[in-house]
Amino acid sequence: LTCVDIVKYYLSQIEAHNSKLNAFLEVYASEALEKAEQIDLKFQAGTAGELAGLVIGIKDLLCFEDHHSYAGSKILHSFKSTFSATAVQRLLDQDAIVIGRQNCDEFGMGSTNENSAFGPVLNFKNTAHVAGGSSGGSAVAVQANMCHISLGTDTGGSIRMPAAFCGVMGLKPTYGRVSRWGLIAYASSFDTIGPMARHVDDLALVLKYIAGADGQDSTVISMSEFSDKKPSTGKRIAYIKEMAEHPSLQADIKIAFFERLEQLKTKGYEIIPVDFPFVDALLPTYYILTTAEASSNLSRFDGVKFGHRTSVATKDLLDMYKKTRDEAFGEEVKRRIMLGTFVLSADYYDAYYTKAQKVRRLIKEFTQGLLVENDFLVSPTTSATAYRLGEKTLDPLQMYLGDLFTVQANVAGLPAISIPMGEDTQSMPMGFQIMADVFQEEAMLNLAKELV
Ligand code: GLN
Repeated sequence: LTCVDIVKYYLSQIEAHNSKLNAFLEVYASEALEKAEQIDLKFQAGTAGELAGLVIGIKDLLCFEDHHSYAGSKILHSFKSTFSATAVQRLLDQDAIVIGRQNCDEFGMGSTNENSAFGPVLNFKNTAHVAGGSSGGSAVAVQANMCHISLGTDTGGSIRMPAAFCGVMGLKPTYGRVSRWGLIAYASSFDTIGPMARHVDDLALVLKYIAGADGQDSTVISMSEFSDKKPSTGKRIAYIKEMAEHPSLQADIKIAFFERLEQLKTKGYEIIPVDFPFVDALLPTYYILTTAEASSNLSRFDGVKFGHRTSVATKDLLDMYKKTRDEAFGEEVKRRIMLGTFVLSADYYDAYYTKAQKVRRLIKEFTQGLLVENDFLVSPTTSATAYRLGEKTLDPLQMYLGDLFTVQANVAGLPAISIPMGEDTQSMPMGFQIMADVFQEEAMLNLAKELV
């Protein structure tokens, strides 16, 4: 098997399924084939990189030199990056091949991939259902074998939720483990980049290359500071009672989740139910802080520096900004910019933003406390399986509720993984989530392996 054969296989899968599923927004067919030919020659010469032949797709929020990145938005129309995201570059340096750019919710804001300016992504398991979001294209690309690995982003569950909805695996690394350079920002203190794949070993392999200090992102901590924090042989697995018993939890997901806990018991793990007094504070804290950060991050899209500018006649600069932003941002993005601007406004700053920061600290400390006493924190990844298309779009609050189990890891900056947990009674995939203490990805991946 040559790299060219591998690329041809994935291209044929894309050809067969993408027009229906809408997972890839752009496919770099000839470029990927050309790169594969070069790598095949390198193989013969014995100079191929460690990831030679690995065919990856990248979420539309990640920059790739001389290629378009639209962040699923009309506002970045025609934008091309002059550099590659560090995570992408590190894979390219090892001879991975980028096969295309993947659909996502606009700026990563969404849970179903229905907020993309380029249409929804459909679930390959049943195309009447959503893929999950915001990395929906990345999940479906792996689910339908259109690439080997996808690089997604996770601010509040955007890797794990679509992974669960599509029956694949997704890893959200510790905040500060993977450089965010070249990731189009949504909420900078929550944003992370991580891999989606079919096998735990593939996640581990990709993480190994994308992780680590980077001069372009000062929030990436050098690994040595944390590596020996705890042995990775821990056997104590906690689950939060308020989540496992949550009224929104679908009955068959609950059953499957407790079955997995039994399975772990037979493997010698201790299962410990714990209380978490902040379950009701998770979503408000997450949505106050992320919309605040988003309103600030998205102010750069003004029609001057990148992408779309209105073609309508405008009175002055301010009018041009307004028309441009009004034309090119989608509804959900506008909603969040308004919410974020409100919570940051002088009159309400202390009541919302400052308060949410304090609650974030409490959530982080309490969660980390649980992870000092226990080695892992597990839950279902989502309270329901993939919704039907359009099922949640009319009610943003219902949509946000779906993120209940995933946002904790981002609020606390912890690593988390979603692995498949079988199918519900409608044959839709379910996900099992494992969370661990900071920089404990290796232990987390080892536990994931016990369950697949
Ligand atoms: N659904 C969440 C949101 O809309 C998570 C998004 C993400 O992780 N990018 O904010």
